[in-house]
Amino acid sequence: MSLLTAVNDTWRGFKSLLTGMRITFGEAVKPPITVQYPRETLKMPERFRGHVKLLLDDETGRSRCTACGLCVRACPSNCIIVAGEKREGEKKKSVTEYHLDFTTCSLCGSCVEACPSDAIAYSKDYNKVSLDRGDFDHMDLVKNLQKEAEVWAQTHPQAVPPAPPADSAAAPAPAPKPTGEEAKSS
Ligand code: SF4
Ligand code: SF4
Repeated sequence: MSLLTAVNDTWRGFKSLLTGMRITFGEAVKPPITVQYPRETLKMPERFRGHVKLLLDDETGRSRCTACGLCVRACPSNCIIVAGEKREGEKKKSVTEYHLDFTTCSLCGSCVEACPSDAIAYSKDYNKVSLDRGDFDHMDLVKNLQKEAEVWAQTHPQAVPPAPPADSAAAPAPAPKPTGEEAKSS
């Protein structure tokens, strides 16, 4: 090996070392992108599809669902059960029972599109886990909404308190998967 070759090799090695160090130090001073889950959670993008949930009407603190059954008929997986009742003085029904079988839901979105009242949407809940299958095959969306309604009531003290949901303990056990005819009669 000639002296010139040795000098060239040494210079190339030194340049490579400097390049590596520049990249290393550049990355070291960047803010961390690691999310310290579960102490921190990600903010889901707008188009994220978590399980279907009932929405709270910010004006009334109640669900806008009228138990019309259109989402039930639109669902290709038959995984929605809806029931409602007409309260005194109200023109439309109010939802009293809304069960979702999330184990068979394909998140296709047909129910959300079919709803004429904008009463349901995808949740942003991406870390739903359980050891109990029952937590997913009969998700009680009315009960879940009640937690939001309680928060709403605290922030709207002047508003009429939201009507309580049907007592899930007293409510009839969810029926077998509904047919289109059952949905019409609910
Ligand atoms: S997203 Fe699709 S499969 Fe899931 S409940 Fe709605 S219509 Fe049914
Ligand atoms: S289509 Fe909308 S209003 Fe009708 S039952 Fe379903 S969620 Fe309720």
